[in-house]
Amino acid sequence: MSRDGKIVVVGAGFAGLAAAMSLIQAGFQNVKILEAKDRVGGRVCTTKPFTENIIELGANWIHGQNKNCLYQLAKKHNLLAEKALVDHSESSRDYFFKNGGKHLPDEIVDKVKSLFEKLISKAFKAELARRYKGFTLGDYLDVSYSESDLASAKDGSGIFEWCKRSECTDEAVSSLYEVSASQDSDYIDLDGEFYNSLGPGGYQAILDLLLKGLPPGTILSNTAVKSIQWDLTTNSQDNKSKEENHPVKVTCENDEIFEADHVIVTVSLGVLKQQARTMFEPALPKSKLDAIERLGFGTVDKIFLCFTKRFWPEDCAGIQLVWDEGPEDKAVYTSQDKDDAWKETWFKKISGFDTVARHPTVLCGWITGREALHMETLQDSEVGDICVRLLRSFTSWSVPDVSKVLITKWGHDSNVYGSYSFIPEGVNGIKKQKELAMPLPPQIKASNSKPLQVLFAGEATHLNFYTTTHGAYLSGVREAQRLINHYSH
Ligand SMILES: Cc1cc2nc3c(=O)[nH]c(=O)nc-3n(C[C@H](O)[C@H](O)[C@H](O)COP(=O)(O)OP(=O)(O)OC[C@H]3O[C@@H](n4cnc5c(N)ncnc54)[C@H](O)[C@@H]3O)c2cc1C
Repeated sequence: MSRDGKIVVVGAGFAGLAAAMSLIQAGFQNVKILEAKDRVGGRVCTTKPFTENIIELGANWIHGQNKNCLYQLAKKHNLLAEKALVDHSESSRDYFFKNGGKHLPDEIVDKVKSLFEKLISKAFKAELARRYKGFTLGDYLDVSYSESDLASAKDGSGIFEWCKRSECTDEAVSSLYEVSASQDSDYIDLDGEFYNSLGPGGYQAILDLLLKGLPPGTILSNTAVKSIQWDLTTNSQDNKSKEENHPVKVTCENDEIFEADHVIVTVSLGVLKQQARTMFEPALPKSKLDAIERLGFGTVDKIFLCFTKRFWPEDCAGIQLVWDEGPEDKAVYTSQDKDDAWKETWFKKISGFDTVARHPTVLCGWITGREALHMETLQDSEVGDICVRLLRSFTSWSVPDVSKVLITKWGHDSNVYGSYSFIPEGVNGIKKQKELAMPLPPQIKASNSKPLQVLFAGEATHLNFYTTTHGAYLSGVREAQRLINHYSH
């Protein structure tokens, strides 16, 4: 079969770019990417707001090395961080402080962290005892901690609460009390270092590599898709000229219309949650709508604080905040669930402030969930002032006023609506991710409809690597390959 199919890719994040590149490499000449934003990259956003050096507002690391396509690509093109930077991060350490200003000794911090890591890895490897069946991740961790030798250690429970709060960032969840201890998931942690940093060009350098593989004019930016009509023609209409026989019509916000044989939708799960019911005609099958609704899409935000001078020791990798009563204490979580009291203390959800590569006077705070969404509604300056107050009250260091503040607003970004996907408590992740990724029309209907009209890619559709950039990339390759196979018969 000749590869003259007309293909529209919606979204120019890693998934969309990888899909388009794979198709073009396979000989497809009629490929267009429609991107709502004025830039490519989606949740990858490399910027230079403070100096000539880069800051990553979205993805920062490549997670895992062995068999990681993006790690291998970056390595091949010399895009990974220089060794010195990696060495520096290895020799530095986190400083843990308690509210009130006490610096917590490394010994107890290391013990609690190592117990936490053991417990969480048991859960992720599905090695939990039967008695934890039906437990939330938070409850399982609490019970296990209370039965451990560290249960009565001074400051131990505060540090354990910090571990849970910090884990919320990796999971993109509001609380570990909202995910299961034994998730139905096929997530794979690739071997090798988890936090691989990129070189001075950041993630943009990888995007640039992909962009080189696309002919000029492939990407139309500032072109948001409003609706996707599909099943407009049937197989029996094959005798019509190809030109007027495209089963899919894509209409953009700017009223431009694109007819296509196949559309690959790569918008985030957050966008699908907001728009799937209005974007598609005919409506998406119930199973897909259910997957969109039930899979989780959480918000993780960064708070960049730029100071005129460094006030932390040179070996400091981060300043971590431990509360007497933190938001991931079960009692606090339960009491705050009923009303809006948590809004008053949203800042307690910040796990800490990490130092930032190539920016000796910048710190990056991390916050997740409903507190992150609330923070996004505040002025940058108000957030900056609160962070400086926190830093002053926790550390005994002389903290100057902040000179520039930059907060990310992934939850309110109308082209993303969050940061990455997660599997909420009680949801069969594998089943729902499969349904999310299933192309349309469903196979059962394929006999009288044209096949593979609407395909779905994007981070949330990848069974093994959801949440990650390499998962997004591979999902794009997967859907391109589906079409390549179809045209190979
Ligand atoms: C704060 C943060 C930190 C992260 N850290 C890491 C990390 O360290 N390592 C890691 O591996 N991953 C990380 N991630 C996750 C990673 O960024 C994503 O998994 C990945 O980039 C998703 O790519 P995607 O192509 O699936 O989706 P996206 O990047 O969201 O691409 C979808 C594209 O579709 C566009 N779009 C949306 N609606 C429309 C429409 N109607 N019409 C046309 N276009 C539309 C969007 O503008 C976007 O460009 C992080 C994410 C965030 C937000």
